[in-house]
Amino acid sequence: MTSLQQRRSPLADPRQQIATLAALNLGTTATQGKFSQALANHGWASLTPAPLEIFQINVGKLCNMTCRHCHVDAGPDRKEVMSWETIQACLRALDQTAAHTVDITGGAPELNPHFRFLVDQCVDRGKQVIDRCNLTVLLLPGLEDLPTWLAARGVEIVCSLPHHRPRSTDAQRGDGTFAKSIEALRRLNTVGYGQGNSRQRLTLVSNPVGAFLSGNQGAMEREWQVSLQQHHGVSFDRLITLNNMPISRYLEWLEQSGNLQAYMERLVNAFNPGTVAGLMCRHTLSVSWDGRLFDCDFNQMLDLEMQLPQEPRPHIQDFDPSLLMQRQIVTQRHCFGCTAGSGSSCGGAIAS
Ligand code: SF4
Ligand code: SF4
Repeated sequence: MTSLQQRRSPLADPRQQIATLAALNLGTTATQGKFSQALANHGWASLTPAPLEIFQINVGKLCNMTCRHCHVDAGPDRKEVMSWETIQACLRALDQTAAHTVDITGGAPELNPHFRFLVDQCVDRGKQVIDRCNLTVLLLPGLEDLPTWLAARGVEIVCSLPHHRPRSTDAQRGDGTFAKSIEALRRLNTVGYGQGNSRQRLTLVSNPVGAFLSGNQGAMEREWQVSLQQHHGVSFDRLITLNNMPISRYLEWLEQSGNLQAYMERLVNAFNPGTVAGLMCRHTLSVSWDGRLFDCDFNQMLDLEMQLPQEPRPHIQDFDPSLLMQRQIVTQRHCFGCTAGSGSSCGGAIAS
């Protein structure tokens, strides 16, 4: 597996991804596949923001892995990383908001050369800091001290591990990933993560290995805790579940496996109005590696920029927090991935 960009796949272009979803005939679904109609049916004339809580910074597309489902199209061949100047602009912007959490994502955020500086700056500001970590990166030469370093700063580590069974995880993330992930979890446990300490919280993220919705979060958490402890002797604090978004490399897989039509019908028909108020785009600001502003990381990957009044190309260098509440959130068909079933967000399921 390499990135869509390296393979010069047409789907490397976000416009092609949007067109692929738009071209599907979803006329048999309840809302004909129109997200705006699904919202309107439940009293939402449009999706509007709530007060900002989470300042999410995507520090780049560089990653040590190339997972099949990746919505970022990240990989070792992707060289886009957030510059020092843009990180400084993010910090200036952060100081103008009341966001309580900084969510650092990628790619593999730890591979950005300014990652530790950014974490330290956010911790110094009293923010809760989340590192979205792929686990295997912690084994790379030069990064072995990261578990201790992050633990000392009280950074929450949110780790992707699709399944507690080796075969399922390796199928999605590459051969040998599960074994490396377990080794990384052991190292995190050793420095206090996953032991119930509020300052060393270890969260696992599961997303389905296939074209179905994520299962019941609570039940899966119990199953995973037992399995990972019994078979591998590792522990974690909580499990969150995400639906796979029908974009980027997962969209490619859906197309190639013949699952795209059925998956989209499943997402649309599973629209849950109880998820709308809690959608992450309502309380999140998402900054891309080059400083552009988006409603969420998924819109970022589709190049659907935040729509601010009098700001045609909103950028972190010109950040004006007073404009955030005046916007309408940009939605399209991929949004059904967030509202299906129990819902899906960076914090896991939205509704029970
Ligand atoms: S899913 Fe995460 S670990 Fe996998 S390639 Fe994408 S960014 Fe890297
Ligand atoms: S993809 Fe999800 S989080 Fe992003 S704008 Fe759509 S509903 Fe909101």
